[in-house]
Amino acid sequence: MTADVIVVGGGIVGAACAAELAARGMTVDVLDAGGIGGGATAAGMGHIVVMNDSPAEFALARASRELWLALGPQLRERDAFSRCGTLWIAEDDEELDAARAMRDAFAAAGVRAHMVDRAALRESEPSVSHAMQGGLLIDDDAIVYAPAAAQWLLASSTRIRVSTGCAVHSVDAAGAHARVTLANGERRTAAHVVIANGLAAPDLIAGLPLEAKKGHLLITDRYPGTVRHQVLELGYIKSAHHARGTSVAFNAQPRPTGQVLIGSSRQFGTLDPAVEMNVLAMMLARATRYLPGIGGLNAIRAWTGFRAATPDGLPLIGPARFPGDRLWLAAGHEGLGVTTSLGTAKLLVAQMLGEPLAFDMPDMNAFCPQRFAPEHADG
Ligand SMILES: Cc1cc2nc3c(=O)[nH]c(=O)nc-3n(C[C@H](O)[C@H](O)[C@H](O)COP(=O)(O)OP(=O)(O)OC[C@H]3O[C@@H](n4cnc5c(N)ncnc54)[C@H](O)[C@@H]3O)c2cc1C
Repeated sequence: MTADVIVVGGGIVGAACAAELAARGMTVDVLDAGGIGGGATAAGMGHIVVMNDSPAEFALARASRELWLALGPQLRERDAFSRCGTLWIAEDDEELDAARAMRDAFAAAGVRAHMVDRAALRESEPSVSHAMQGGLLIDDDAIVYAPAAAQWLLASSTRIRVSTGCAVHSVDAAGAHARVTLANGERRTAAHVVIANGLAAPDLIAGLPLEAKKGHLLITDRYPGTVRHQVLELGYIKSAHHARGTSVAFNAQPRPTGQVLIGSSRQFGTLDPAVEMNVLAMMLARATRYLPGIGGLNAIRAWTGFRAATPDGLPLIGPARFPGDRLWLAAGHEGLGVTTSLGTAKLLVAQMLGEPLAFDMPDMNAFCPQRFAPEHADG
């Protein structure tokens, strides 16, 4: 055996799993076809945000955010961790009602959240359009530069060995062993293999229902203080769940450098990484509605990335094919994988070791990959 566990993929999810396994005393081989944190992890926004779309995702995000808040003080400057909070912006009375409902749901679950009226919004975010009616402030949300954090996690233990430029061609498991075969024909063996290679997971476990959701982001030059919190329109929640077509929603992040990171778009049915000027234009038009001065800022770079989405929007965490499998999945985190990476690692390792989970989850099997097995198709 080359290690107790092999982790395929060195994105934020694979790195978090490796760090958790090593913290539990296991030796871990991390194999990545490219470099560390180079997939969706490099393309994302790194907003650590509690979303309450479903009870399971809410529990995972809330627990994960607590883990990030505990980790934050240990991270380096280049990991760009900052507790800037999230300010959800309400444009009209209907969105104010939605914000109140969100506040109540969060309060019931012990997540700090409070309403911000129009005057307080102007004071805390002077650059936001004065036409906005108010919002909801989530004090404890944060941001992180995920590719650097992935590297930090992988360097957190001498039990972790990292191989980059090391593509896995196939995986299999029989008896007491799990194996990977590399693209160069080399084989490595461990007690367990964790498949954390994001959108490419179906290359290793046939039939996984993962679909790419393309996203655009743009970053400006340094304009410190333009926004102080991660600011999002409340309509973002609707946009995040569009199942088809192209949608955009306003989302802006204050980078610790003073730059403003602006999102975001969602597109299905394309794997073309090119920046599309029409989508970028839609995204910036939306942003101008919320930040009217944005047109005066100098943009320095735009890029795209692909979120790995499952049909129900929840990740795949657990034994890959059947209970007791030595092949495990930690993939399909769509637009929330930076946030939920640390909780994913705890959940996966608890399942692997047959231990109780250290945080509250309504259903430990909510993310079970077998929910998409053909026999459950009509359920
Ligand atoms: C535009 C955009 C904005 C986002 N914003 C946020 C946000 O604000 N907050 C948030 O929480 N999430 C956000 N996300 C989502 C988040 O970035 C992802 O959910 C997360 O990075 C997924 O991490 P991962 O480790 O599962 O996958 P990846 O980061 O894609 O890592 C997979 C790794 O596997 C490797 N690999 C692939 N195939 C193989 C193979 N055969 N052998 C070996 N290695 C292989 C790849 O090289 C890659 O390094 C955003 C995503 C996008 C695209």
